Amino acid sequence: MFEDVVQFIRNQFNTKEFIPLHAPVFKGNEKKYVLDTIDSTFVSSVGEYVNRFEKMICDYTGTKYAIAITNGTAALHLALIINNVKQNDLVITQPLSFIATCNAISYINARPLFIDVDKNTLSLSAEKLKFFLEEKAFLSNKECFHKETGERIKACVPMHTFGQAAEIDTIAELCNKYNIALIEDAAESLGTIYKGKHTGTFGLCGTYSFNGNKTITCGGGGMIVTDDEKIAKTAKHLSTQAKVAHRWNFEHDSIAYNYRLPNINAALACAQMEQLETFITAKRKLAEAYKEFFSNTSYTFISEQKNVRSNYWLNAVLLNDESERDAFLAYTNDNNVMTRPCWMLMNKLPMFKDCPSYDLSNAEWIERRLVNIPSSPILNDLKDQMF
Ligand SMILES: *Cc1c(COP(=O)(O)O)cnc(C)c1O
Repeated sequence: MFEDVVQFIRNQFNTKEFIPLHAPVFKGNEKKYVLDTIDSTFVSSVGEYVNRFEKMICDYTGTKYAIAITNGTAALHLALIINNVKQNDLVITQPLSFIATCNAISYINARPLFIDVDKNTLSLSAEKLKFFLEEKAFLSNKECFHKETGERIKACVPMHTFGQAAEIDTIAELCNKYNIALIEDAAESLGTIYKGKHTGTFGLCGTYSFNGNKTITCGGGGMIVTDDEKIAKTAKHLSTQAKVAHRWNFEHDSIAYNYRLPNINAALACAQMEQLETFITAKRKLAEAYKEFFSNTSYTFISEQKNVRSNYWLNAVLLNDESERDAFLAYTNDNNVMTRPCWMLMNKLPMFKDCPSYDLSNAEWIERRLVNIPSSPILNDLKDQMF
């Protein structure tokens, strides 16, 4: 059976060579725009491509403001600061995520509080969040507190895992009701649309990542999106060392960060943005083929839910148990087809093992069974549509 899977993947990518999990594709204006920044000498934190990239993200996602940041982790860090997360606060998030989510929370000496994920979306479970808030939290003076520790629950950071969308409208309603700041970690889900609206645009802030393995990349990069003018202004200010605008004076009005995305990265990003929908079309076509193939096996392919247009950043399959998963990982990687398990759950890591957590049975179930399989956009037959 594993042999059939490897053969099927090879047929899709039409190669006998190594097949990576996700490789970037540079088939558009990347070289032209990057050279342009070198020719103009504007490679650093000031330049037209940064503004253009921000405008492109606003136009694409439908948010009012977008602030380009050095990477997705820094974008999350800043989003938490701007939403007044403080030392000793709790931030609700999911155990099944990349380490960046919990790291960003920890930079401010706040702590993650782990709520389970949903088995279908792999993302924060709206149902379990509701149960938790009703049973384990209370409002006092319009602030939300955790019954057991007495600590303030200031924010909630759901993550749209592998580009599948959480039930983010319900999560947003719950956060509103309990006065919890909703910050979406949409690092993996640029282009994923939930009930007609882009993931990353449901809360006070959303963040994206443009790391080398994401749907589009600019080497390293991130973005904060928001509809709130004050949040946008603060994000720009704090990401540029809190410099007071002046033609020559160096005056800074608070301790801040050097988190502004360089123009040379933004140039690469603009070229990638021009191709984003082409990539997503190709990735969705591959996902469709996987879905069909796996429907005839005993494995479960993770597909988008009703009302969702997924970007299918990383395709995921659930095997029947842990030993089958391990055998699958060994066989595919031995045969030069890159696959991998999901992240070790955050609540199991030494840094976070003492953080509050509730029933995580879905995350544990998924952790034992899930594998990611090659997901790069295959563009051969889409070339004509691109130019
Ligand atoms: C990629 C990613 C980030 C941000 O990563 P950077 O490499 O800092 O851009 C954050 N959260 C999740 C879930 C991610 O997958």
